[in-house]
Amino acid sequence: MKFNSHFSEISENYLFAEVADRVAAYSKAHPDKSILKLGIGDVTLPLAPAVIEAMHGAVDDMSRKETFKGYGPYEGYDFLRESIKNYYSSHGVKLAADEIFVSDGAKSDLGNILDVFAKDNVVCVPDPVYPVYVDTNVMAGRKVIFASATESNGFLPMPDGKTDADIIYICSPNNPTGAAYDKAQLKEWVDYANKKGAVILFDAAYECFISDDNLARSIFQIDGARTCAIEFCSFSKTAGFTGTRCGYTVIPHELKKDGLKANAMWYRRQATKFNGVPYIVQKGAAAVFTEDGRRQIRENLNYYRENAKIIADCMDRLKIWYTGGKNSPYIWLKCPDGVDSWKFFDRLLNDIQVVGTPGAGFGKNGEGFFRLTAFGSREVTNEAASRLEKLLK
Ligand code: PLP
Repeated sequence: MKFNSHFSEISENYLFAEVADRVAAYSKAHPDKSILKLGIGDVTLPLAPAVIEAMHGAVDDMSRKETFKGYGPYEGYDFLRESIKNYYSSHGVKLAADEIFVSDGAKSDLGNILDVFAKDNVVCVPDPVYPVYVDTNVMAGRKVIFASATESNGFLPMPDGKTDADIIYICSPNNPTGAAYDKAQLKEWVDYANKKGAVILFDAAYECFISDDNLARSIFQIDGARTCAIEFCSFSKTAGFTGTRCGYTVIPHELKKDGLKANAMWYRRQATKFNGVPYIVQKGAAAVFTEDGRRQIRENLNYYRENAKIIADCMDRLKIWYTGGKNSPYIWLKCPDGVDSWKFFDRLLNDIQVVGTPGAGFGKNGEGFFRLTAFGSREVTNEAASRLEKLLK
């Protein structure tokens, strides 16, 4: 037996574990201090009433012989795929229901999709970015190159000679930088991918935060994307499903090469390794698209948007450079006085007990930057902004 030696190539300490360790050590040493956590990108508002009601109804369905559900379809129930299809249509994107695959979240799909790609593909990942793209490819032994996201390109790298790859990851609005591509920029990526015969893996986990019409909610709003892109989306941030688990992946029928079709391969992959998302969860997810569900979700998103604005306004007053805060729940700020991101982390923890995430944990280019999230409560966000302002002015 041999283990997969590529595991030794991924960094051992997961970023958030290191953050949690430092916070725990501080908290043990200073039990009287109130710590304000704006670090991990988890939601804090509960599931919307419409979702809860639908889930209760689904539990009742499971209690009756006539409505009980056993194994569901690998690709998700039709009622949810139809609702997702209609949601896309409201953004001008026409999909067939069988191009939508329901799953237990975007993270699983982003990792699992690699099953349909050959090992010798070169992968291009933005730096900095959500660590899952790099780690899943390194585990599989693939070569990873980086598209450099920096202050000078507003953390939105564009295709160039250095991004020559077969699989290109794009995350917009981005985690951690909050930066979001506009439609013209994404058109350049789509044209590039089509010309090269590459695929774009488009992570739209934060699309629900977009309010600016110039920005794309879906890669499929861009002409040409159906021949070169797969989209991953999630109910986690849209509707607070981080603990409930539901997401979906869109694979157009036109994405094919050498007689192989990505849509059929993914169906085959899911049928082999995945047994579907619980009926109760899918019923809850479908309720997100009802009139009540949409209104309640909008209220929750507006709450987080207002938190983002509170932090962004604070940065404006402090004249600190940042991206995000608009069209995104993340504020990605430049650490003042040129300090490195872990030093800034320690300073905020020790001096004002505010916890954020050091940019260096998201990639080399994240050094010197810091991420704050808008997912905290209003009280915590206001108090954190006021402590930041006192410390940094
Ligand atoms: N993609 C990005 C960019 C994320 O930031 C996250 C979660 O934080 C995910 C995907 C994972 O989403 P899910 O909860 O659906 O697995």
